[in-house]
Amino acid sequence: MSSITTVAVLGTGVLGAQIAFQTAFHGYRVHAYDINEEALDRARTRFAELAGIYQHDPAVGAAAHQTEAALQNLHLTTDLAEAVGDADLVIEAVPEKIEVKRRLYTELADLAPSRTIFATNSSTLLPSDLKDFTGRPGKFLALHYANHVWRQNTAEVMGTTDTDPAVYETVVDFARNSGMVPVELKKEKAGYVLNSLLVPLLDAASGLLVEGIADHETIDKTWRIATGAPLGPFQIFDIVGLTTAYNIASTNPSEKSQEFAAMLKRDFIDRGHLGTASGQGFYTY
Ligand code: NAD
Repeated sequence: MSSITTVAVLGTGVLGAQIAFQTAFHGYRVHAYDINEEALDRARTRFAELAGIYQHDPAVGAAAHQTEAALQNLHLTTDLAEAVGDADLVIEAVPEKIEVKRRLYTELADLAPSRTIFATNSSTLLPSDLKDFTGRPGKFLALHYANHVWRQNTAEVMGTTDTDPAVYETVVDFARNSGMVPVELKKEKAGYVLNSLLVPLLDAASGLLVEGIADHETIDKTWRIATGAPLGPFQIFDIVGLTTAYNIASTNPSEKSQEFAAMLKRDFIDRGHLGTASGQGFYTY
């Protein structure tokens, strides 16, 4: 049995709102913290949308009383001390900026009880980049969710060399008990397991496209038929969102990435074609 009953989620943006709702849906008491009332209003809208998704997406198929119970388990606050005061676990999902995260952990180190475990949902920073600011390196690790947590429900668990193995196991149990499939990493690795696999695939696919080797439909079809995968790389780009794909490609100095970024901007983003979210990307939805 996991010893965790009360969870604080810091940051209620795209991922934080999903993590908070998923955790509340599985019966935990959740404090959802953000920096101001405007952010909490956006969170309320996100939670209402998630309640609808949990009812209508066959991956969950929740009854109305279950999503209502999830909403009852969620407590929103702009007071950090209140959010973490009785938390067994804090899950941090604030913007991917090292200085923002370090400042927050420095504050948290004093505000949270010494027993509280801290977990970062950071996609690109390693927990080692943050552990010295937590005041508790033994009780700190990464717990990395994927977007659309109710369906794409992997939770990558990655400690540092300082993480206490018992804390690691507690977080693995929490992940399982909150409806996630824990993915246990034995060492730190930038990109975890998922992005270590996915990024090279997407890079190779965009390279084939900009070099004019094959069109996106042919590339996707090849991957689907020959490997049995349900989606090809350009279908994945549409789900990730073409703005995110652009942000990643444009920061990669390689000539092919720069060409791909320019193509995404010119042919898609400037026309409002952002992927599945806008109904049009490489494909029409
Ligand atoms: P986001 O910008 O949608 O949300 C960030 C939220 O944090 C906002 O609501 C913002 O008001 C709040 N915030 C800002 N400063 C804060 C502070 N000091 N304390 C508390 N809250 C603060 O970002 P996101 O996409 O949800 O990403 C959050 C984290 O999750 C990042 O570390 C990112 O790498 C990780 N992540 C994102 C995805 C994704 O697909 N978006 C997937 C996996 C992991």
